[in-house]
Amino acid sequence: MIDVHVHLHPPRLFAAIRRWFAERSPWVLDHPTEPAAVAAALRAAGVERFVFCSYAHKPGMARDLNAWLAATSRDLGGYGLPLATVHLGDPDPAGDLRAAFDDGCIGLKVHEDVQQLALDDPRFDPVLAVVAEREGFVLVHVGPVPWRSDTNDGPGRIAAVLARHPRLRVVVAHFGVPDSAAYVALMPTVPNLFLDTTMAFAHGSPMEGGIAADLVEAAAANIVFGTDYPNMPYDYGAERRGLEALGLRSATLRAILGENARRLAPALADDARER
Ligand SMILES: [Zn+2]
Repeated sequence: MIDVHVHLHPPRLFAAIRRWFAERSPWVLDHPTEPAAVAAALRAAGVERFVFCSYAHKPGMARDLNAWLAATSRDLGGYGLPLATVHLGDPDPAGDLRAAFDDGCIGLKVHEDVQQLALDDPRFDPVLAVVAEREGFVLVHVGPVPWRSDTNDGPGRIAAVLARHPRLRVVVAHFGVPDSAAYVALMPTVPNLFLDTTMAFAHGSPMEGGIAADLVEAAAANIVFGTDYPNMPYDYGAERRGLEALGLRSATLRAILGENARRLAPALADDARER
C-alpha cells in the first residue's frame, strides 16, 4: 500500500489545526500527530510508503515549512516523502519550489480553500512548470469541500490547467467530491488527471461520496490511495474497507492501493518494499 495523502505539520501549526477542528467542526481527531508516531501507525497498517504535506496559509512561511518537511522526511529515513508548499503572495514561489525539490520534496500540495488560492490562477503557471520539469505531481484540494460544495467548476478549471501543462500530473483529492463523475468523464482526454480516495469511501466519513463501483472501475488506472491520516475522525483501516466493500476487481484494488501511485513521481517508482 502507498498512501499519497498524509498530513504532517510542525508542532505549533499542528496544534493550531487541531484546535480549529475542535472549535469549528464536529470531528473528533485523536490520532497521533508526531511524525515518528504517525509513521509507526502507518507501518503497522501495512503501508510501504507514504506522501505527506502541510500548507502555507499566508505569505512568508513556505520556505521554512518546506525545510521542515524535507528534514522530517530525512528523519523518517525516506519512508515518508514530502510535498512542498508555496504561497503566491511570496516574492518567488517558483524559486521556493525549486529549492524544495533540491531538498527532497517530490511534488506540490495546494489547498484551494485553506490557502484561498485557485490552481488555475495564472500566477501558478511558473510554479506548475517546475513541477512538470522535475517530474513531480500536484496534490490539490479543489474548492471548499466538505464545508461547502461549490467548487466554481473545479473540473473545468483543472482541465484548463492540464491543457496548459500537458506533462504535469495532477491528483485531485477526496475523489473530486462533489464533482467525481465530471472528473472521471475527463480522463479519456486528460491522461495525467488522477483522483485520490481520501475520505470519500470510509463509512461514516463526512466526505463519503456514495461513489458507485462502476465509476471506480471506469477510472481504475488513475485512482490513488489516500486517507488524510492522522486528520480523520475514524480508524485508519476504514478507507480501505470502504473500497473493498465495493466489490471491485482484484486488479483494480491492487492498482488503487499501490501500483498507480508509482507513476506519480520517480521516487515512488522504486521498490520501497525493502524499507
Ligand atoms: Zn488532506
